[in-house]
Formats: sequence, C-alpha cells, structure tokens
Amino acid sequence: MKVCKFGGTSMANSSTIAQVADIVTSDASRAYIVVSAPGKRDSGDVKVTDALYACAREKNEKGSCDAAFSVIEKRFLDIESELGVDVGMKAALADIKDKIEQGAGVEYIASRGEYLSAKVLAAKLGVPFVDTQDLIKFGTKGELLLDISLDLLRARLADCGRAVLPGFYGSDKDGVVRTFSRGGSDITGAIVARAVNADVYENWTDVDGFLTADPRIIDKPALIDCLTYKELRELAYMGAEVLHPESIFPVRSAGIPINIRNTFNPAAKGTMIVADGKQQGKNGRVVTGIAGRKGFTIINIEKDMMNSEIGFCRKALSVLEYEGVSFEHMPSGIDTLSLVIRDECLGGNAQKLVNKLRDALGADSIDIHSGLSLIATVGHNMASRHGTAATIFTALADNHINIRMIDQGSSEMNIIVGVDTFDYEKAISAIYHAFC
Ligand code: ASP
Repeated sequence: MKVCKFGGTSMANSSTIAQVADIVTSDASRAYIVVSAPGKRDSGDVKVTDALYACAREKNEKGSCDAAFSVIEKRFLDIESELGVDVGMKAALADIKDKIEQGAGVEYIASRGEYLSAKVLAAKLGVPFVDTQDLIKFGTKGELLLDISLDLLRARLADCGRAVLPGFYGSDKDGVVRTFSRGGSDITGAIVARAVNADVYENWTDVDGFLTADPRIIDKPALIDCLTYKELRELAYMGAEVLHPESIFPVRSAGIPINIRNTFNPAAKGTMIVADGKQQGKNGRVVTGIAGRKGFTIINIEKDMMNSEIGFCRKALSVLEYEGVSFEHMPSGIDTLSLVIRDECLGGNAQKLVNKLRDALGADSIDIHSGLSLIATVGHNMASRHGTAATIFTALADNHINIRMIDQGSSEMNIIVGVDTFDYEKAISAIYHAFC
C-alpha cells in the first residue's frame, strides 16, 4: 500500500489536478493521498500559501483583506468549476474570509490552501476528505508530537479506504491550527506513511528526482536513481532542495522508502530513497551527488600550545552558544582552530563575535575570511575506497582552484571542501566532470 503526496505544482490548476487524479486511480495501492496548496501555474504566478500570508498581512495593516482574498477566491472557484466538482466552495471561502476578518491566527489562514485543495481532490476522486487538523498534533513550542499523531491517524484511517488529507497543518492541544515550516506537506505525507506502515511513500513533484548536481551549473546532470537517507541529508543540507529535510525522520526509522516522482512525467521511475546502501544495488557510481552552498565565513583562531589547553574548544563554543550563533564545521590544527559559520547566522555581528572570542580565549590572533562556499561530494560507495579525495583535489588543482578548507567525517561518505565563492561554479563543474 502506498501513501502519495502531491506538491503545489501538481495541484496548481484544474488540469494538473485532473492529472493527479489519473495518477492516483491508475494504481489501486495508492491509498492515502496528501496534498499541498495550489502552487505557481507559471513563473510569474503566486503560490496560494503566499497569497494567504498576504491576506493575513493585509488584515493586520488595513483591518480587512478584501484585495488579497480575492486572489484566493478566484483560484479556488476556477478550480471547482473547471473540474466540474461541487465542494460548496463559495460557502467555504465565505466562512474562511469571515474567520480572517474576525482575527483568526496566521497559521490558520496559511493552512486553508491545503484544506481547500484536499477538498477538491477528494471530490474529484469521489473519496472521503480526512482533515488532519485534529490528527497531527503539536506541542506548546510548535514541535510535532509524533507518537500522539501516529496513534490518532492510525485510529482514523483504519478501514477508511482511499482518502485525501491536507498537508502542512495540524493543531495544538487546544485545537488551534498550527503549521509546519514552509514545504511541510512533505512531513505530513511522511507521518501518514509511517502511521499506516506504507510499503512506499511516493512524493510527487515537478522534477524527475534528485540530480547528481545543480542543473543551473551542470548541463543535464544525471538523475540519481537511488540514494540513502543519509546521503539525502548531506545533499539536502548543502542545498539540493527537492524534499523538506525533516520529512525523512518519520519514515526512516520504519525503513519505508521514499520515491520522488514527477507528476508531469509519470512514466519516469524517479529517485528512490532507501534506508541502507545495500538496497541501492551496485550502480557502479562512487559519487552519488555533488551539492554546495554559498555564504560562509571562517573565523581562524590561533594560540600557541592550544592543543594542550584543556577546555579550549568548550570556551570557544560557549561564546557561540551565548551569542546564539551555530557553526557548521570546526577544522583544527595544533595551534589553530577554525569556525565555519553561515553568513546569515553571523548577521552583521562578526566583529562583535571576534571580540568576545578574543576575550574568552586569550588568543594570539583571530582573523575573519568571508566569501567562502562549501561543496559536498557525497557517496555511500566512497567509504573504504582509496583515491576519491585525490580525484577531487586533482580536479580542483587542474582548474587552478584554491581549497580553503577540507572536512571529511569518519563515515567517509562525504568530503566537504571550502573554496572562494568566485570559484564556486568552476569547482562544482570540475568535481562533477572528474566523477560523472
Ligand atoms: N503550501 C505550503 C508551502 O507553500 C506547504 C507545502 O506546500 O508543502 O510552503
């Protein structure tokens, strides 16, 4: 049995929704269907969720949301009439608008795209609409209460047959609507898949799957047919954005594979995300994918005899903790320690942080280098194989690219290099062509 999640571009208009319905009905094992709000119909369009946030802002600023809400009304009334279904859209929209005017919370407002989207698809398929509002539960700090949610979903979905559920939201203990972070319908799909112990969680989007590199840099990079959850985490963290990064946790522990599929190319098998490298089969590739991110700064700290000073790292990290700055990497030498930090975490406070570090550590010198980009070369098959690092470094050297930082964890499935941002695209291309 399969759980399917269809993203915003799949639910964007009546013809894509009809396509979704065809995909669902073409396979009897596609039982529980989770949907996003309608996304962009073309590059100049607005996502329904963004339009809903605009309603909340307009209500706040002007006391009512007439202009912004008219965008929502048009989208959904068109979808209802073009699909030839009757979900009482006019009344549902009036009710939502009423609640917004009466001061409904922003998370409630943002959730209505998924709510209406699921209503429409359920009607098109002629199956029940199952609201997730009282099935996905959040704690007081907005954290997902996974076990409670799983129990509630299991009880509700037992013997329900095929059904459509809205993604992205649930509620807190008082029943007030709470949402995940943006793109969170992926998480809803994963929770539903875990609750019903699905054989596979199909995540339908608008691309064929994960690519071995960023197509804006590499011309027609190969598709990754299979990768592990761990590889996915590494690639996603470094910028490969197909799936919400938190969506793997509910399914990973139960070993439920995720299959990325393309609504607009349903014949393609997509990318399979599996628990274990052994399930990947021997595709012969050493490197599964290459991903990168711009926008890092390195703070280099030097102090003689640092290596024998017990507690030095703790003091440095305490400063970061106290200042609310998270770091990404911490390469070190005998008398040096470098902290690699995202620019967005530093804000404009780099100098203040350096001063605090200097005071706390009694360092001989501390300097800052900005303009760093990180590139991760990821592959389960890289472990226990010689020559992978040599291939990366040779490719970079041959292209006259200076490596500013190197990091490889002992799992050996990820080698990260830091290069100057002006070398970023060239470096990705050099590494890609050395392996692919
Ligand atoms: N509609 C929400 C968003 O745009 C959630 C989702 O699509 O997954 O972020």
